[in-house]
Amino acid sequence: MRSNDELSKEELRAELAAAQRRLVELTEQVARNDDKLRRSQKRELRLLQAEDLDALLKALVGGLRASYGLEYVSVVICDPDYDIRHLLMANGTPVESFPNLLMVESLTGLAPQYIALYKPWLGAFAACDHSMICPGASGAKSIAMIPLTHRGKLIGSINLCSDDPDRFTRQHASDFLAHLGIIASFCIENSVNRARLLRSGFTDVLTGWHNRRYLSVRLVEELARARRDQTGLVCLMLDVDRFKRINDTWGHAAGDAVLRELAHRIESQVRASDVAARFGGEEFIVLLPNTEVSSARLLAERIRQAISESPITLPCKDTVTVTVSIGISEVRPKSGDADLKTVGDSLIARADVALYAAKSAGRDRVVVEGMQ
Ligand code: GH3
Ligand code: MG
Ligand code: MG
Repeated sequence: MRSNDELSKEELRAELAAAQRRLVELTEQVARNDDKLRRSQKRELRLLQAEDLDALLKALVGGLRASYGLEYVSVVICDPDYDIRHLLMANGTPVESFPNLLMVESLTGLAPQYIALYKPWLGAFAACDHSMICPGASGAKSIAMIPLTHRGKLIGSINLCSDDPDRFTRQHASDFLAHLGIIASFCIENSVNRARLLRSGFTDVLTGWHNRRYLSVRLVEELARARRDQTGLVCLMLDVDRFKRINDTWGHAAGDAVLRELAHRIESQVRASDVAARFGGEEFIVLLPNTEVSSARLLAERIRQAISESPITLPCKDTVTVTVSIGISEVRPKSGDADLKTVGDSLIARADVALYAAKSAGRDRVVVEGMQ
């Protein structure tokens, strides 16, 4: 570079003009970034302000599509225990009422990017890779997959799709999108927890039955009563046979309908003094106070038959015959049994062993502990 006194006036002018143009460019870029930052903050604020899970999911799917001016946005969330789906249902907004919200049992095999989605993935939309996570984005040419995480683990993604091939490319910076993903993940966790808290009583949302929490409280009470009255307490543990097949064939909503109908059928057989609860996914427990094992077995057989003898009509009007396996255990608490919680845990664990034996013996049957 020559020194200033060696430069001609013309050259100086040209350099000055170039510097000025660069300054204008930089100022514009800063303004653009400023604008981008403001819009980005506005989007995040909308997520943070969502009052409940329902509002948050709407802001995530529809809200982001509108604010980015995109053709298509989907949100995939892994919900293996149907936790979020049931919370939504309890709220009167089943997952089906959210277009482009996909709740899945696992991310495996849905899109190759899920193998290592640590930061937003931007690039060409490929039907073979992305049609499962963006089922309605037929004309899309580019996509940004923003990871959603829970405690450091990938639980899904926000998928922004554009018909413009240059909208999301590998060359684009993704810091704003990464930040949005962090905020969205936080909001999802927060609103799920809030919804859970609201429903964290003793009631199972799906069946209206008592839940596991209630069962553990009642179990100790019933054991105390049995110890005082010197009677026995019998536990029936029921598990639906090959239930996964129903979800796989007709979808989880049909699976839910089956669980509700099963709860009905079980309920029709038990007495008001019995304690019936949904223990977990497709497992139910009935506690029978002051009951002999022989009569508990008869009751279990009646429940088994009430379930298997007539098919269940699904919401789609198809019918399906469902069977259950039932394990039975009994306890007669003694005055020396101080820790009734441990006694209760063992009662349930033994019913589970009998249930497992019923499964191994071919399902659709009742097994009493120690008698398999
Ligand atoms: P098995 O006869 O050995 O019990 O077979 P299974 O298919 O019933 O057993 P498995 O435990 O493999 O599958 C249970 C399935 O139940 C898996 C899970 O996705 C599903 N599930 C759990 N909770 C719910 C629910 O609330 N609703 C629906 N629709 N499905 C559920
Ligand atoms: Mg099970
Ligand atoms: Mg099962």
